[in-house]
Amino acid sequence: MPKDDEEYARPARPPDTSSLAEVREASSECTACHLYKRATQTVFGEGPKSASIMLVGEQPGDYEDVAGRPFVGPAGKLMDQALEEAGIDRSQVYVTNAVKHFKWEPRGKRRIHKKPNSREIAACRPWLEAEVRIVKPKLVVAMGATAAQTIFGPTFRVTRERGKLLSSKLAPRVLATVHPSSLLRQPDEASRQREYKLFVTDLRTALRAASEE
Ligand code: SF4
Repeated sequence: MPKDDEEYARPARPPDTSSLAEVREASSECTACHLYKRATQTVFGEGPKSASIMLVGEQPGDYEDVAGRPFVGPAGKLMDQALEEAGIDRSQVYVTNAVKHFKWEPRGKRRIHKKPNSREIAACRPWLEAEVRIVKPKLVVAMGATAAQTIFGPTFRVTRERGKLLSSKLAPRVLATVHPSSLLRQPDEASRQREYKLFVTDLRTALRAASEE
């Protein structure tokens, strides 16, 4: 891919509306950065407008790109299991990503996830801002470094701040934790179990925070 294509990004411009459906529709036409060119479709967030918790991940993966829905692949299934264990009903939360198109590179016949860069994240941020503005969740859960840095800036470290209730310009209450895909990358079963339990603990904290008046 030519370098200038990689660098092409300007802020997306969501419509000024309180309708999630209208914003979703507008996002399906977004060409604010080059990522739309190689992805199947925009993967906008989903969930009720009345959700008190908004979960934010990094970007859609291979499964999500094809399905057009967030968190439906292996990491999403693990997240669903953790949500259930934490007492959170997925159908009652709003789930989205910091970047709405799948960024990937070919490896043989496979499409391998590639981390979005700061220009792509900044270009896509207005869609997330629109989702937060319309849903007005009591708590945003930033899952993984990309989501957390989209909200708090590039110096934010999830390892230092995870599980704490923080505030940001984007949303008054934010809790940062790991991305569920990191649980799948653990080197052995013992670490996977340990990290999974910590993730569930963070989700329980999120539920308590979102239940407070
Ligand atoms: S990644 Fe975001 S900013 Fe870039 S084209 Fe897709 S929706 Fe638009």
